[in-house]
Amino acid sequence: MTLVEEKENLKSKLKEVFGYSQFRGNQEAIIENILQGKNTFVIMPTGAGKSLCYQLPALITDGLAIVISPLIALMKNQVDQLNAFGINAQFLNSTLSKGEINRVKRDCLDGSIKLLYVAPESLTKEENIAFLQKANVSFVAVDEAHCISEWGHDFRPEYRRIKEIIGLLGNLPIIALTATATPKVQLDIQKNLQMENADVFKSSFNRTNLFYTVKPKKHAKKQLVQFLQVHKGKSGIIYCLSRKKVAEIAELLNVNGFRAAPYHAGLDPAVREKNQDDFLNENLDIVVATIAFGMGIDKPDVRFVVHYDVPKSLEGYYQETGRAGRDGLEGECLMFYSHNDINKLEKFNKDKPVQERDNARILLQEMSYYAESPVCRRRQLLHYFGEEFETENCGGCDNCVHPKERYEAKDFAKIAIEAALVTEERFGLNHLVDVIRGVANQYVNSYNHDKLEVYGKGSEETKDFWKSVVRQSLIYELLQKDIDNIGVLKVSDKGRQFLQTPHSILFAKDHEYVDAGDEEEESERVTNTSKAYDENLFNILKSLRKTIAQQKELPPY
Ligand code: ADP
Ligand code: MG
Ligand code: ZN
Repeated sequence: MTLVEEKENLKSKLKEVFGYSQFRGNQEAIIENILQGKNTFVIMPTGAGKSLCYQLPALITDGLAIVISPLIALMKNQVDQLNAFGINAQFLNSTLSKGEINRVKRDCLDGSIKLLYVAPESLTKEENIAFLQKANVSFVAVDEAHCISEWGHDFRPEYRRIKEIIGLLGNLPIIALTATATPKVQLDIQKNLQMENADVFKSSFNRTNLFYTVKPKKHAKKQLVQFLQVHKGKSGIIYCLSRKKVAEIAELLNVNGFRAAPYHAGLDPAVREKNQDDFLNENLDIVVATIAFGMGIDKPDVRFVVHYDVPKSLEGYYQETGRAGRDGLEGECLMFYSHNDINKLEKFNKDKPVQERDNARILLQEMSYYAESPVCRRRQLLHYFGEEFETENCGGCDNCVHPKERYEAKDFAKIAIEAALVTEERFGLNHLVDVIRGVANQYVNSYNHDKLEVYGKGSEETKDFWKSVVRQSLIYELLQKDIDNIGVLKVSDKGRQFLQTPHSILFAKDHEYVDAGDEEEESERVTNTSKAYDENLFNILKSLRKTIAQQKELPPY
């Protein structure tokens, strides 16, 4: 076949089997690469169409393609979909009976199955290795490959054994796929699968149809209900950090007349499955969930994703928000942010093994920078994934649409750094602010601070003002948190340099992220809705949506 004929052939298969008339993004190039038997590394955002990249070549090549997938729900979802397309695919996992397992294996060996989905736990079982050694395997796809990396957001230790097992099956091409694009994770995956020489296909991570907003978490329950009232009847996901909070918020929403249900790993599997199905089938509008919900959930018309609690990492945040607007239409991503949440997570990390704890802290710190920064959210997210985004005003985030008012903070930042230095970098935020404002407290008295030049230098500004200065000095890395002593602030190298040669630095006004502390209240009807969720922002969104809808013929990515 000539190259042109081959391309025609791929396209007709795409239409004939899947019913799509066009490849999206890099799909075609990726498929060609796999068909040439080369190791292939695919990095594409959630919803961009990674599955097709191995499903189509699996049909064309001789033999059986193995797809390694981390979740039973995910496998089932895909196998059901493929079967509906008339493709013979099956999975091998702990939900099958002995009889079913034998039937699946027989069908694999006689060549009637083209794709076999396995969990890494099943793959490493001896009897399964023996069976796969007898099968005619064409290639191995490692889906959700970031599970290999401890830097990813869903690390799965069994994923680290995959390469060893593939080695036992022969010299097979590998295609690894993930939506996690940070350089750290990428490198980990390639090393672990020994595919440093793979051809890498990386797509842009810009989700142009998503609108990103971060709101200070002040009266979160009320804020949430107000937001949802504007989006009544639409499909959405609300992420919370704990199972307890999931239950509480689901209850709150029900009391307030929303069609919502909880989802977390502690629920009875039958209930969990029912809630998921109800969501997919539109019997429910809202799922309130822990991060256990969502990987591989293919619901195209999710209109909003709310992070009720601060996520543990930007990667997680990006993945979770990525579940909105998969159909290319509007998707609103709202996160509530407070320092209380960050402190809670830091305390939670405290007892982890050192390496793990340090990783978690770095990830969390990046999260804080993102939330507190006045810079375009889209630019920050893309930068995090190693992508430059130069557009001055993205039109799709709160910081671009409602820029925060800023002020020249050079002299203030200097005072904050000096205060940390002269107190020997042994104290936390509140104490530093007291020193700056010349307020006596037990430490100040015991420390003879009145001899210090910086003492009382900032007495004309309020406590809140100085807290905000210290926090933003942290965000701009002039100060840094002490790894070993929670709460203690140190001066960074950057901060020392700044003191020597101070330069212009703009801080945001109204920089306050303190929870009002009404979190423990009972679920009750929220009646005071006079201050409905930012009308102004909503109207801007509406017009943005229209524009996007008019450009619908454009692919969403
Ligand atoms: P990912 O794994 O990258 O998150 P999926 O493989 O689940 O994404 O695909 C997301 C959606 O895009 C699915 O509904 C899929 O059917 C659809 N899709 C994939 N490729 C195409 C295409 N070429 N044209 C139209 N729809 C596509
Ligand atoms: Mg996928
Ligand atoms: Zn922006």
